[in-house]
Amino acid sequence: MTFSPCPFPPLHKARRCYVDKPNEFYEHELSIITKQVPHFCPKCKGSHDDFKHHECRHRLFYVVIDSLVHTIESFLGRWKCSLCRATFTAYPEYALPYKRYVKDVCISLCEDYVTKDTATYRSITSTIGYTTESQNIDERKLERSTVWRWLGFFGSLKDTLRNAFDIIRQAAPNSTVFRQISSIHPKKYRSDERKIVLEQAFQLFTADAKYQGILGHSLFPDLATRCFWS
Ligand SMILES: [Zn+2]
Repeated sequence: MTFSPCPFPPLHKARRCYVDKPNEFYEHELSIITKQVPHFCPKCKGSHDDFKHHECRHRLFYVVIDSLVHTIESFLGRWKCSLCRATFTAYPEYALPYKRYVKDVCISLCEDYVTKDTATYRSITSTIGYTTESQNIDERKLERSTVWRWLGFFGSLKDTLRNAFDIIRQAAPNSTVFRQISSIHPKKYRSDERKIVLEQAFQLFTADAKYQGILGHSLFPDLATRCFWS
């Protein structure tokens, strides 16, 4: 395969990286460079292929390797829909909107929190440390409030959860996924509102696992995008 020079300056920045960049990052960058357009506009809900590349947005991502956080520089593509003229970001499978940590890190820490009775924000966030650019381990910690906010985000995706359940129900009407009751430990919430958020996050993670089993891919980002990340 031959590569023509990248027309987008951010790629040069994106080559600076503190660890080997996982393949999925390269694949996503390549998909932008070779202008593999999206097939769906999250603004007007149009399914088509008529998108123009709008810009590349430089982004830092945090991945966790061997319990240490590493920074990876990459970029996200923004596209313009020819039907509604709106521009939007197309997220790769590993990224979530406005989250620096990659999706797998967000989900695994949040899932640990809602499924393990003894888990606390302190215990969850103390499982990972940071490295500096020189690869020395530094004293920073993942903020407990960050995981708290991630759970708020996952717990708010009600449309996504409802649609995932609909799709699972059609493919596997007898699935137990609908009957799995989350028993969030009462120490983890002080209000009914927060309890519901945690329960919905639990259901979303359970549904995502089932969804992947049926469709072969996560409900992130495609289904969530179609539900406007709500
Ligand atoms: Zn559109």
